[in-house]
Amino acid sequence: MSKLTELTVADAISGLRKKEFSAVELTEDHINAVKDSQELNAYVVKTFDLARQRSILSDKKISSGEAGLLEGIPIAVKDLFCTKGVHSSACSKVLDGFQPPYESTVTQKLWDSGAVMLGKANMDEFAMGSSNSTSCYGPAINPWTPKETGEQRVPGGSSGGSAVAVAARAALAATGTDTGGSIRQPASFCGVVGLKPTYGRCSRWGIIAFASSLDQAGPITRSVKDAALMLNVMAGFDSKDSTSLDKNVPDYVKDLDQGVKGLRIGVPEEYRIDGMLPEITALWEQGIEWFKNAGGEIKEISLPHTKYALPTYYIIAPAEASSNLARYDGVRFGLRETGDDLIDMYSKSRAKGFGEEVKRRVMIGTYVLSAGYYDAYYLKAQRVRSRIAKDFKDAFNDVDVILTPTAPTGAFAVGEKTDDPISMYLNDVFTVPASLAGLPGISIPSGLSPEGMPLGLQLIGRPFDEVTILSAGRFLETAADFNCLPSDNIGRKKL
Ligand code: GLN
Repeated sequence: MSKLTELTVADAISGLRKKEFSAVELTEDHINAVKDSQELNAYVVKTFDLARQRSILSDKKISSGEAGLLEGIPIAVKDLFCTKGVHSSACSKVLDGFQPPYESTVTQKLWDSGAVMLGKANMDEFAMGSSNSTSCYGPAINPWTPKETGEQRVPGGSSGGSAVAVAARAALAATGTDTGGSIRQPASFCGVVGLKPTYGRCSRWGIIAFASSLDQAGPITRSVKDAALMLNVMAGFDSKDSTSLDKNVPDYVKDLDQGVKGLRIGVPEEYRIDGMLPEITALWEQGIEWFKNAGGEIKEISLPHTKYALPTYYIIAPAEASSNLARYDGVRFGLRETGDDLIDMYSKSRAKGFGEEVKRRVMIGTYVLSAGYYDAYYLKAQRVRSRIAKDFKDAFNDVDVILTPTAPTGAFAVGEKTDDPISMYLNDVFTVPASLAGLPGISIPSGLSPEGMPLGLQLIGRPFDEVTILSAGRFLETAADFNCLPSDNIGRKKL
């Protein structure tokens, strides 16, 4: 039998049920994998004792026939999810020491289904970033390295630690959140599958808020089927989140193999951006070919407002962030500095607690919401956002899914764009439009760049049509036959 850490979630579930191994063994092997991959800095909090206890319970449940859907499956949880009694800080100093007295709805659903938490995954501070380098715990490192140089690469962000844990076989799956690409882009950089569900599909309750009209939880996994299995548990209405939709949750696994014959695949011309890397163009063309050869119908489409998506996002997201982050004042949570008076205490706590990128967003957000600028920036951005959503709505009259690259490049070097926020923001060019429109998107590992780094293709679907992007994703995954393992030249044990 292959190493337990190599299994997919689906195979692990079946092995556990057949008693080929126990949940305790599966958990222990993953704990060892977490320890062995320490230098990747994927985990910022480790909950091994909890995991061990939980896995003993899982074995009992499996034996007594009471196993939940994900019984005994060891996973990583992005540090943005509040986990009861377990340090949750969104990788920000401002929340240092915060142990939530409650559990987020999505993680509660996972525990109710029997999943086992290995720990909290590293991420960009408050989910702001595309490289996991704004974390107060330091960057997470991509387990993939270019074959020639072995240079350390970023895992993408903001759910970088989650993608690293899954790619490095230090978790069978992980939760992530995606506001403008934070599940899909790190999945693309790390050669794993990342699914951002429709806005409102998974509850946001108990997830530390970044930009509330965009934030959405989703899974990062090593196969499309695993993403479907995770979504089966994570999705669903929650009365505690007024934007979660009371809509039936289908079985996302059931129709995975329906194929793509007759499926209409849209290819948006506006995503052919200037200066696109040849390997990205080639991968996209290859994806189109695969669909065509399997009986898919390729249609050129136009999403005319695409070029405004990035500036629109970088007004709306900071605006909402500046409001959401006002609660970190040193009084209620985490870090508190002493000051001469209340205002002084607020500003000193915030000045010390927030990192540079977070401060930048709070300032931009406050500016675009301020009297005199609100109409010119925030309101205008909201109007453009509706246009972007309408582009997609119109396109979906003619097509069933949209195929694009996930990111304009593969993983870049650690530290490379840190001092250049604009070039960092450009990473999100292909992911942000679907976020603004609230649509589901999935990144499928589909090829390698010339230097040997993973590249993903993105499928975007109609609202609440995760079923179609999952089955198209399943097709893509099979066509790409992407089964490469990260290389081993950064001193860690052989995977
Ligand atoms: N990279 C984007 C940003 O920094 C997206 C982040 C996210 O999706 N959480 O805002």
